[in-house]
Amino acid sequence: MDIRIIASGSRGNCYIVSDGRTSLMLECGISYKDIQKALNFNLKGISACLISHEHKDHSRAAEDILKRGIQIYTSGGTAKALGVENYLLRPIENKKVFSVGSFDIMPFDLRHDCAEPFGYLIKSSLTAEKLVFITDTFYCPYKFKELTHIMIECNYIDDLTEGTNTELLKRLYKSHMSLDACLDFLKANVLSKVKEIVLLHLSDERSDEKMILEAVQKVTGKYVRVANSKEYD
Ligand SMILES: [Zn+2]
Ligand SMILES: [Zn+2]
Repeated sequence: MDIRIIASGSRGNCYIVSDGRTSLMLECGISYKDIQKALNFNLKGISACLISHEHKDHSRAAEDILKRGIQIYTSGGTAKALGVENYLLRPIENKKVFSVGSFDIMPFDLRHDCAEPFGYLIKSSLTAEKLVFITDTFYCPYKFKELTHIMIECNYIDDLTEGTNTELLKRLYKSHMSLDACLDFLKANVLSKVKEIVLLHLSDERSDEKMILEAVQKVTGKYVRVANSKEYD
């Protein structure tokens, strides 16, 4: 499974996941122009786009993506909140598996301050690899078996929230994943088959790439990558 990071963080998120036969876009939270540029103006190979929730940093280019004939799958709540009318926008249901090319995808509910946020469990029938995609949630209520790839938010470190105003802090605790919550998730899952962990959506002010990377490596003993938003800037 190949995971490509186009953008990550509160300014925008966009990832491409491919098993060699099917390519999926996860989130389209940057401008369509920037997506085109990142893909050398070739979006033909993208079979569909999955969106986790309606916040702009995950859905900015939704309308353009649909206009270009690419289907978007997202929860009914997110589809409604996006306010876009297009037959290629496909509302999907919690825990109902659907297929796109060689991928079988199961959406699951997450916890964020929006209409109906979803994470996605994506299994390739070609390679039998299994990826979980979890972002913008303060915890994940589920465990998964036999994961090979994990893409998970690691937004902030508790010790680095000093100076953050109370309102923002309150929101943060109920909407984004801390390093501790991320580690709890990783500890709760059997990681024996995991080949790669990609950490997403790091906060600019309340995180530290090096600390996060080391902490996750130490707990998991796995290959860990941080999706660096600077790749996109
Ligand atoms: Zn976000
Ligand atoms: Zn959000």
